[in-house]
Amino acid sequence: MTYAITQTCCSDATCVAVCPVNCIHPTPQERAFGSTEMLHIDPTTCIGCGACADACPVEAIFPVDSLPVAQREYAAINAAYYEDQAPQPAPDGPNFHAWDEPSFPRVLPSDFAPLKVAVVGTGPAGMYAVQDLLLHTSAEVTLIDRLPVAGGLVRFGVAPDHPATKKVGDTFARFHTHPRVRLHLGLDVGSDVSAQELAAHHDAVIYAVGASADRTLAVPGEELPGSVSARAFVAWYNGHPDVAPDAVDLSVERVVVVGNGNVALDVARILLADPDSLARTDIADHALTALRAGNVREVVLLGRRGPEDAAYTKSELLALKHVPGVDLVVDDHDPRIAPAIDEAGPKDKAAVLRGVTRDRTDWAQAPAPGRRIVLRFHSAPLEVVGEKAVQGVRVAEASGERTIGTDMVLRAIGYRGVPVAGLPFDETTGTVPHEGGRVAGQPGTYVVGWIKRGPSGGIGANRTCAAETVTTLLADAVAGALPAPGRAPKAFHRLARRRNRRAVLR
Ligand code: NAP
Repeated sequence: MTYAITQTCCSDATCVAVCPVNCIHPTPQERAFGSTEMLHIDPTTCIGCGACADACPVEAIFPVDSLPVAQREYAAINAAYYEDQAPQPAPDGPNFHAWDEPSFPRVLPSDFAPLKVAVVGTGPAGMYAVQDLLLHTSAEVTLIDRLPVAGGLVRFGVAPDHPATKKVGDTFARFHTHPRVRLHLGLDVGSDVSAQELAAHHDAVIYAVGASADRTLAVPGEELPGSVSARAFVAWYNGHPDVAPDAVDLSVERVVVVGNGNVALDVARILLADPDSLARTDIADHALTALRAGNVREVVLLGRRGPEDAAYTKSELLALKHVPGVDLVVDDHDPRIAPAIDEAGPKDKAAVLRGVTRDRTDWAQAPAPGRRIVLRFHSAPLEVVGEKAVQGVRVAEASGERTIGTDMVLRAIGYRGVPVAGLPFDETTGTVPHEGGRVAGQPGTYVVGWIKRGPSGGIGANRTCAAETVTTLLADAVAGALPAPGRAPKAFHRLARRRNRRAVLR
């Protein structure tokens, strides 16, 4: 019996470390790791021991024989990865590295004193950094989040119909109560305490604050009522405290989503999923009520490029084909679309769309009966049309321009980092400039995750990102390059309590 990795793969390579036969690739040592959408099990080498499935933090690994119907294609997807690959080195061979640390060598002196490190942000990036510090050093950690609930995007970003992905949050939550962690929830660095105060009480500070704003379309009408950022919509259905329960009106029949990334696919699925199945998830009550009462039955996903260049991952597109009661349709309006799908190689993303219904929708009409998701490629938005509220989206297409009638537009064109008080900021990339995670020109200050690399990459990408930042921090500590803090973390905890009595300290 062999195993296969499936849709929810987070690529954090926990499985690689426990595989006794080196059958999971790419590993963090391999070049392809940086760009892979998922990891793959080689069916010819797998011995079916199941160690990977036991270790997987997101329940993505199953025996091939018991794959659910919607996941069966993953047996072939895993196998296809190895078709044109050289055989992998055996575990006892000279080139075998599966049990190495992810990528960054570290040498710590035996008398290394426990570092006092503050980590700002409890999302995946912050928590992989905390995990690394706790498991591999004697550091004591002050962990801070501005929200009263920990988890960052695992709690407020992952779609509720992806409960297996949310499980990685349990792995992180173990560290909230670790004896070397003090957790402050509901404490804002910037308003409750300053970055300088935080630095003055710790040897080092790691900012893992993510990307909390939106990229903008920069087209007229973007701010009209009815034009909503997907970030806000995702936060709404996940019960984020910053978004009001009545912030979203779902009385519309057609929603147009701008963007072709995984966030666009998430919002399309949630808009059309059977509310009874969502009721079994942790979706916010107000969102479930609004979805039940709403009229949405068609979601149009606008991609400015073709199916061969879409930003979504193959696994999330595959899942879109299996949403119960929802048809997936490709709008065949452009002569480039059919060949891009029909002539795609078996490993190409566009090949997933073979067999998917194609039609040419008359956008002047109301949506057809039934519930459907329409993929409309080669459609760059030019304007969100409307006088007082959204009435449509005007797009550029091969034959000219066209307006797609809708009362609601979701802008799913990516997130953007916001400046962190006291840190330099690159306006072009929306990130903090850094060298290996060390903030440029600020010894003792580090970044990790989307505020470091920009808003791309799933949960697991943060593991190697955090490993790099922590390695830089440790090297600086060993080199004596960390500024000496004037005060101890205990004084910081007292200060934090004085400044915000509602903040929760654990
Ligand atoms: P993304 O992957 O960067 O996708 C952004 C999309 O917006 C792309 O299709 C992009 O088109 C389009 N876009 C950008 N500017 C545009 C413009 N001016 N006009 C029209 N389209 C525009 O961003 P995301 O969907 O927010 O996802 C962020 C990261 O989180 C990704 O790495 C994603 O995989 C990850 N994520 C993963 C999951 C999951 O695994 N289930 C779920 C959610 C998010 P171009 O490609 O042409 O630039």
